Amino acid sequence: MRAVLSIGSNMGNRRALLQTVLDDFAAETVAVSPFYTTAPWGVEDQEDFLNAVLIVDVDLTPLELLHRAQALEQAAERVRQRRWGPRTLDVDIVDIEGYSSQDPVLTVPHPHAHERAFVLVPWLAIDPDATLAGVPIATLAAQLDDAVEVSDPLEEA
Ligand code: ATP
Ligand code: CA
Ligand code: CA
Repeated sequence: MRAVLSIGSNMGNRRALLQTVLDDFAAETVAVSPFYTTAPWGVEDQEDFLNAVLIVDVDLTPLELLHRAQALEQAAERVRQRRWGPRTLDVDIVDIEGYSSQDPVLTVPHPHAHERAFVLVPWLAIDPDATLAGVPIATLAAQLDDAVEVSDPLEEA
């Protein structure tokens, strides 16, 4: 099963926290985007995020993949304070090839992916021809004006 994952962090050693996800999926990874610095979405009075997208090929059910994503968040000692608030690590399932679900426990495609530059721009970098619910992600990304920039590791503490 091929899936697109969006990962983000805006607390702690963001680069190292994202790397824990890349390491966990290393053997199943098809492509990984660069890391991007992005402004917070939804709740704006918090630190900038570091975001990336990875495409994986996993021998898991969709729910098993969700549980694996949540285990990585727990390993990062994620604490939920408020919706869309600061977090050490967020791992979202953006899309799963050949699968869709409206279940609130696992909604696929992710209900906000089409309106998030921090998802679409990294994804576009590794799969320019991808579509989301039938719409080219290049078209979706062109409709957004949020700035997302490739992050320079040398500028990070
Ligand atoms: P958003 O989902 O808008 O990006 P969030 O990532 O901050 O917000 P969380 O607190 O991480 O939200 O997740 C809340 C719940 O969303 C999880 O318990 C999970 O069951 C559910 N969920 C539904 N669809 C998905 C999906 N595609 N990927 C990850 N979690 C999902
Ligand atoms: Ca999220
Ligand atoms: Ca999430």
